[in-house]
Amino acid sequence: MIRKIYLEIVFLLVCCLCLLQGASAKSYKAIESVQVMAEQDVDAKLLGTLKKGTIIDVTPMNDRWGKVTFKGKTGYVTNQYFDDVPSAEIDESTAVEPDATAKKELSDNDKKLLAFIVGVIVFLIVIKRVLHYRSSMSDRRKAADFEEEKKFQPKFWYQCKHCWVTVRRESAPISEGCFNAPDHDWFELAEFGKTRYLCKKCSTLLNVRTEPAMAHCKGGEMHVWEKLQQ
Ligand SMILES: [Zn+2]
Ligand SMILES: [Zn+2]
Repeated sequence: MIRKIYLEIVFLLVCCLCLLQGASAKSYKAIESVQVMAEQDVDAKLLGTLKKGTIIDVTPMNDRWGKVTFKGKTGYVTNQYFDDVPSAEIDESTAVEPDATAKKELSDNDKKLLAFIVGVIVFLIVIKRVLHYRSSMSDRRKAADFEEEKKFQPKFWYQCKHCWVTVRRESAPISEGCFNAPDHDWFELAEFGKTRYLCKKCSTLLNVRTEPAMAHCKGGEMHVWEKLQQ
């Protein structure tokens, strides 16, 4: 149970890391000198030019355009002039100074996303715990109900040897009223309990503590008790 919850947390954390990864810009190297435009349009205002070999963070916008921060402003470059940059090649001296506020906004968004995901995970765990607690409570309540019933209900099963009437009483019932003999002749079968037994010969069904006595079955001779699944 607990191991399962941990696995779920790890899975969700991996998912959020992937999400954060996807949302971030990556560093690329300019393979030509690249013009930085104010909008995703070759005819837009020219903000400046990146020298060949410049390494800069580019957020891909679509097949053609990527977003960069250039001299503190948002600009757009054509993706085709960039190559993948191995992380070892990143060098502070050639990298264009990133805009501090833009960087901060991005990491704030990342934090919000992360906080949201962590919130969802905590919420799911709490819900799971509550459901588990409630089901174990209802099991406990059933057991308690049974104990209550046992306390106030008669304790023993009796069966008449002549008319096979079966009753639950605290002690042997009165003898009057047998329709097969002048008097009932009561025989104690078992103590009341949680386990169910069925006689295969006479179909008497009892809730008992231990297997009932075998004597005096209506079907002749002995009862044949079979324990039933709960
Ligand atoms: Zn009887
Ligand atoms: Zn029987």
